[in-house]
Amino acid sequence: MKVGVLALQGAFIEHEKKLRQLGAETVEVRLPRDLDGLDGLIIPGGESTTIGKLAVEFGLIEPLRTFAQQHPTWGTCAGLIFLAKDIGIDRQPILGVMDITVNRNAFGRQVDSFEIDLPLARLGDMPFHAIFIRAPIITAVGKQVETLGQLDDGRIVAAQSGHLLGTAFHPELTNDLRLHQYFLSMIKDR
Ligand code: GLN
Repeated sequence: MKVGVLALQGAFIEHEKKLRQLGAETVEVRLPRDLDGLDGLIIPGGESTTIGKLAVEFGLIEPLRTFAQQHPTWGTCAGLIFLAKDIGIDRQPILGVMDITVNRNAFGRQVDSFEIDLPLARLGDMPFHAIFIRAPIITAVGKQVETLGQLDDGRIVAAQSGHLLGTAFHPELTNDLRLHQYFLSMIKDR
């Protein structure tokens, strides 16, 4: 299995390590041709405005959009913002492929970053240690979108829409491989 990781900016190396630990081949995606022959793609956390700007510069917006419409694609944090249909502003380039509304930097300054044990029924009984760093939240999901994870107060931080997966936190910064395993199983089941 060959999985791409968008490598313009942000935490792409950590995702590659996790994928390799699980036996997948990884490809760093920087140019449209890097998408050729990939079975899936991860868009990492980082800074969504920077990722968007660089994607425009490298002619990646349309190729990434087409890829994500057809193949399993997982956005974490900034990557989740990049996948969303609606982020409440239209100046920032996004792919707009996942039917969710996302609010950037939703936790404000005081709780810039925090960690919690998040129940994710899809992964079994053991909660997932979720690291949030200037994280977004999902404020609305479309009809076809399943909510996978919510904070105690109900705010949505993980969702899936068919072959598209989105998480507001950073699973590549923990030792838990279960979400990467889950994404690989989405690819296998396709
Ligand atoms: N706050 C960042 C943004 O708006 C996302 C932060 C992250 O990816 N950890 O793009």
